[in-house]
Amino acid sequence: MTDIANLKIDVEVKRTSTSDSRVNLMGLDREAMEQYFASIGEKSFRASQVMKWIHQVGVNDFAEMTNLSKALRSSLSANAKITVPEIISDNLSKDGTRKWLLKVPGKSAIEMVFIPEDSRGTLCVSSQVGCTLNCSFCATGKQGYNRDLTTAEIIGQVWLAKHLLAQQYKTDKRIVSNVVMMGMGEPLMNFDNVVSAMKIMQDDFCFGLSKRRITLSTAGVVPKIDELKKACPVSLAVSLHAPNDELRNELVPLNKKYNIEKLIDACNRYVADSQRARITFEYVMLDGVNDKLEHAHQLASIMKKVPGKVNLIPFNPFDGIQYKRSSNSRINRFRDLLHNKGVIVTVRKTRGDDIEAACGQLAGDVMDKTKRSEKFRQSLKEKIQ
Ligand code: SAH
Repeated sequence: MTDIANLKIDVEVKRTSTSDSRVNLMGLDREAMEQYFASIGEKSFRASQVMKWIHQVGVNDFAEMTNLSKALRSSLSANAKITVPEIISDNLSKDGTRKWLLKVPGKSAIEMVFIPEDSRGTLCVSSQVGCTLNCSFCATGKQGYNRDLTTAEIIGQVWLAKHLLAQQYKTDKRIVSNVVMMGMGEPLMNFDNVVSAMKIMQDDFCFGLSKRRITLSTAGVVPKIDELKKACPVSLAVSLHAPNDELRNELVPLNKKYNIEKLIDACNRYVADSQRARITFEYVMLDGVNDKLEHAHQLASIMKKVPGKVNLIPFNPFDGIQYKRSSNSRINRFRDLLHNKGVIVTVRKTRGDDIEAACGQLAGDVMDKTKRSEKFRQSLKEKIQ
C-alpha cells in the first residue's frame, strides 16, 4: 500500500456547515439548474454556463466564472455554494487502483474507488451511507445504514475524482471513462438523487458520458428498475448471486420481496425495446455455498430467459465473515459449464484488495442507525472468545 498523501492535491474543498442554507449548485441537474436561475430572474442559458464551469472546468468559486456579470457572481456567492465531500484519506494500490475515504455530514464517511485499465478508467461511486439491504456476504451491509447521499455528494465524487486523477496522471484527457454505481449502498433505494447525478454525468456541459458508460448495479428493487427505464436508462447490472430462491433469500434478503422470477421479468422489460442491450448478472463465488455444478446448471437455465451475461466475482473476504472465496479451479469449472451451455460469462479480476478497495469491501465509516453493525461486532467478539 502506498500512501499518496504527499501527492499535491490543490483542489480546494470547502467545508459544508449544517447551518448553511445556501443552495449547493453541485447537486443540480440541468432541469433543476434552469429552475434555479429562473427563480432568481436569470435566463436559462446561465444553467449551461455555470454547469460548464463547475463540472468541465472544475471551478468551485463563483469569482472565477468570468462570463457572468460581477453582480451575478456576487449574488451567487451570497446565496449559493459549490461543495463536495472532504477527503479523509487517499490510498493507491500496487495495481494502480486508488481509493478515497470521504467525509460526509452526519459524522460518517463513504468510499469511492478508481480502477485504471488499459482501455478505460472506471470510477466506482457510492450512493448511500451504508446500506439497508444486509446481503450476507457484503461488508457495507454489516456497517448498517445512516442515510441516503444527496445528489451533490454523489456527483461530487465524480467531480473530485476527475480533478485528483488529472493531477496524478498529469493530463487533461478524460481519465474517468466509465462510472459504476457499485460503491456503498443500493442506488435504487436512493432513486431521485442517483438519477439526478447520472443525468449530470451524461450532460454534455458536464461529464458527457454516454449511457452505456454508466452502469447501475442493483440487488433487484423491481419497481424501481421499471422507473429507471423511464427516467434514465443506463446500463444495468443485477446482483443475482444465487440461482434459486431458497439460496437467494439467504444471501440477498431482498429476494423475499422480489423473487428471481419477478426480477428476471423486470430485466426483460428493461431491455425490451433495445436490440443490443444486455443485463450483466453479478454472481459472487462463495466456496461451497453457491458454486456447485448444480448451481451452474440452474443459472444456465435462468440465462436462457433473459438477454444477459454473467460476471463471476471471486468473493472478497473481510474481517469476521464466515464465507470463503471459491478456489480458482472451482470458479473455472463453474465458468466452463456456463460457457458450454452457451452463456456469455466472464470472471471479474480482483483489483485493489491490498487497500480493501475490492467489490464488497467498501465499508466507510457509518454512524449506524440500525442495530446491525452492533450485532455484527457482537458476533465477532463471541467468535474470538
Ligand atoms: N447494492 C448494489 C450495489 C453494490 S455493488 C448491488 O447489490 O448491486 C457491489 C457488487 O459487489 C454487488 O454485486 C455486490 O453484491 C458485490 N459484493 C458485495 N460484497 C462482496 C464481496 N465481499 N465480495 C465480492 N463481491 C461482493
